Amino acid sequence: MDSNFQAVLQKAAGQQPLSKEDIVTLLKAKPGNQQRELFALADKVRQQHHGNVVHLRGIIEFSNYCRNDCHYCGLRRSNRNISRYRMTVQQVIEASRRAIELGYNTIVLQSGEDPWYDVNTLCRMIAEIKKIKNVAITLSIGERSKEEYQQLYRAGADRFLLKHETADRQLFSSLRPGTSFERRLQCLQWLRESGYQLGSGNMVGLPGQTLDSLAEDILLLKKLDVEMAGIGPFIPHPQTPLAGQPAGDLQLALKTLAVARIMLPLCHLPATTAAGTMHSEGRQMALNCGANVIMPNVTPLKYRRLYQIYPNKAGVTDDPQQSLQKIVGIIHQVGREVAAGRGDSPKPVFQKGY
Ligand code: SF4
Repeated sequence: MDSNFQAVLQKAAGQQPLSKEDIVTLLKAKPGNQQRELFALADKVRQQHHGNVVHLRGIIEFSNYCRNDCHYCGLRRSNRNISRYRMTVQQVIEASRRAIELGYNTIVLQSGEDPWYDVNTLCRMIAEIKKIKNVAITLSIGERSKEEYQQLYRAGADRFLLKHETADRQLFSSLRPGTSFERRLQCLQWLRESGYQLGSGNMVGLPGQTLDSLAEDILLLKKLDVEMAGIGPFIPHPQTPLAGQPAGDLQLALKTLAVARIMLPLCHLPATTAAGTMHSEGRQMALNCGANVIMPNVTPLKYRRLYQIYPNKAGVTDDPQQSLQKIVGIIHQVGREVAAGRGDSPKPVFQKGY
C-alpha cells in the first residue's frame, strides 16, 4: 500500500494523468508522512502557477430566498425558521461600492435560487457596479436559462459559480429533490459556451458519499476544465433533514483540495469559509495545501447572520472592514501577500489586460 502511494504521488508530481483508482489512493493518504507529502506537492504546484499571492473576492449575499429544497442547506424553502431578506439593487450597489473602496477587485453576487430578481434587474445591478469600477463580477445565483446566462454575460458578468455539489447522481437526486444532475451539467455547459470563467465544486463528507465518488468529483472538475472550484467540508444545519448527521472530515476535505490543485494547476481554489468554521486555522491549512483564494464576506452586517447555508459560519459578526483585516492577517500568517488586480484565470484566453 505504501509503495503504491509513493508510485501514485510520483505520477502526480510528473503531471501524468491520474485514474479514479489513483485519486482514491491519494485521498487515502495517512496522517503523518503521506499526508505531509501530498500537501507539500499541492503547495509546490500552487507556488509554481500562482506565486506567493492570495486573491480576495468580496462576497455579497443579496437574497436568502430559494425555490429549492436541498437537504443540506439552511436556506431551503421548507425552512420556516429563518427570516428571509432581499437586498434592493441600490443596497447591492452600495455594498459593492464599499467593497471597492476597501480595495476589492472582484465582487461575488450570491443568492439562493431566487427568480424574484429577473434578468433585467440583475443586468442593471451588474452594469451599475461596473460603472463604479471595472471589477470582476462573479455570479452565484443558481440555474437559469441559456439566454439569461448570455444576457448576464453581455451585461458585464465575468465569472459564474455553479457547484455541482456531488458527482454521485444518486446522492445528488436524494439531496436535491426537484433538480437533476443532467440539468446541472447542462447549465455548466451553457455557462462555458457563454464565455464565463467557470466555477464549480463539491462538498466533502456528505452522508453516503464514498472516496470513489469524491474521485469522480475531481475528475468532473478536470473534465469541465473549470477556472475555479470550491471544495469544502459538509457541515450539517440543525434546521434541515441532515441535522444530526456527522460533519465532513476536515482532513479529507483538505486532501481533496490538494489532489484538485495537483490535477488542475491553473484553477483558482478558495480556502473555504466552511474550513474556517470547522477549525480556527482551517483556512490557513487550506492555503498550505493548494488554495490561493479567500472570499471575505462584505454583506451588510444586518443580513449576514440570515445567510446560513450551514450554522456558526466563521466571521458572521464581523463588518466588512473587520472581515478584511482578519483575512489579511491569515494571509500574512502563512507568509503570503494579498494579490493586486482582478485575479482572472491565468489561462491566456482570459487575460484581457485589465
Ligand atoms: S444549496 Fe443553493 S439551491 Fe439548494 S437550497 Fe441552498 S441556496 Fe437553494
